[in-house]
Amino acid sequence: MPVRLFNTLTRTVEDFVPLDPAGKKVGLYCCGPTVYDFAHIGNIRTFVFADLTRRWLEFSGFDVQHVMNITDVEDKIIRKVRETGQSLAEFTGKYEGEFFKDLETVHCLRPHQSPRATEHIPEIIALIARLLERGIAYQAADGSIYFSIEKYRGCGCKYGQLVNLNFDGMRVGERVASDEYEKESMADFALWKARVPEDGVVFWPSPWGDGRPGWHIECSAMSMKALGESFDLHLGGEDLAFPHHEDEIAQSEGATGKPFVKHWMHGYHLLVEGRKMSKSLGNYFTLRDLLAKGFTGREVRFLLLSAHYREQFNFTLEGLIAAKTALSRLEQRLSEVRNHGANAQSKSVSLNDSLIAQVSAAMSDDLNVSEAWGRIFQWVTQTSQKLKSNELSEDDAAAAWRTWTKIAQGIFGIVPLQAVGASLTVSWNVEAHPPELLALLEDRQAARKAKDFKRSDAIRDELKAKGWIIEDTTKGPRLKKT
Ligand code: AMP
Ligand code: ZN
Repeated sequence: MPVRLFNTLTRTVEDFVPLDPAGKKVGLYCCGPTVYDFAHIGNIRTFVFADLTRRWLEFSGFDVQHVMNITDVEDKIIRKVRETGQSLAEFTGKYEGEFFKDLETVHCLRPHQSPRATEHIPEIIALIARLLERGIAYQAADGSIYFSIEKYRGCGCKYGQLVNLNFDGMRVGERVASDEYEKESMADFALWKARVPEDGVVFWPSPWGDGRPGWHIECSAMSMKALGESFDLHLGGEDLAFPHHEDEIAQSEGATGKPFVKHWMHGYHLLVEGRKMSKSLGNYFTLRDLLAKGFTGREVRFLLLSAHYREQFNFTLEGLIAAKTALSRLEQRLSEVRNHGANAQSKSVSLNDSLIAQVSAAMSDDLNVSEAWGRIFQWVTQTSQKLKSNELSEDDAAAAWRTWTKIAQGIFGIVPLQAVGASLTVSWNVEAHPPELLALLEDRQAARKAKDFKRSDAIRDELKAKGWIIEDTTKGPRLKKT
């Protein structure tokens, strides 16, 4: 079954076919963090999406080379360095370290390469020189080098491959120096920014005088160095499609004359009350904010993986609590299955191929996680019912546990609880409990619904014996320590 993925270039879901004639090797580049602050969980959503894409390709048999750059010099960083009085490396080094810790907390695989922009100044300069040679770049009066959209289009190249652009209002030669700008203010953009006093000591020598690179050229230089002039897959958040990725295409194709990237994927934003979670709006949570509230990285990951990457997703703490509870229930049921199969006699425990096929079909359909989780939840409910009615053999239970482990770990990066030895602790403002308590609570609800009050009383007594009392509130039952 081919892996099918949406391609922003063609605006369609298409078969993913790598450039490698053997169809095996895949070069994947995901724009990395700008290390000027802690990452917020919107940023983390994009990196979890990249990790999921990589895992799914690997699970499908591809040999992925995953590259994620570190943007350690750009406008915002320079501003912060100036404000804090630290050296560039000191300042960015701290946030880079914290970023990798965050990635580990949410169980992202470490990219194979994480090039830093500041360590690729010679490659950046060489790329700009190629654009100058081809007449697509020019030097402005202040010494800065700009990319000429007019010259690029004049060579028969298309500016506006990822987004539709309206060139009517564009004045030839108009320039934009900042790294971020809107489609409406499209203009020639800076490749090399001549040194200004505000840059302090952040500058490098170049054939065009002291200065520093623009943000977009950094990614063109690093991705092509790591993966070649043409590669398979380029990812990032939806806000990067323009201008960052459009400019990456223009710079790379303008310099090499070859197609830059075959397949582009963009993860949609994490929202807060309908608006993009962002530093500038101040409406953000960092991962550490959530850990301080008692949530774990795997719970945050589970929440982020519950929505399709091409769906904007509204973040709420209630949503995170619900995800935590759902994961804990799922794992409670699976731990009962695991215990039942712990002494399975069969030497070679098989896998549940049908579930793996269903989940695979969903994932190959543009990473349809909702469908995949739906299948998993359904299967867990059925397996759990079989266990309760003594219809699940020990061998089947062992196979079920193995299947879950393979899917959870291999595809979703949700390491099964037994493997991480994690405990379910009580979290902020939420009655979170060990899964066996939640299962009892759920059974009691079912008994009450069925008007089996004898059973519901028995469960209440059982919980009491364990040190918990049930409080029935308008929002449903809650457990309280006696
Ligand atoms: P930055 O560190 O700002 O360069 O961003 C790192 C990544 O996070 C980029 O791929 C952005 O597109 C992505 N990003 C920024 N804000 C959000 C958000 N609210 N939701 C999802 N991804 C985001
Ligand atoms: Zn980039």
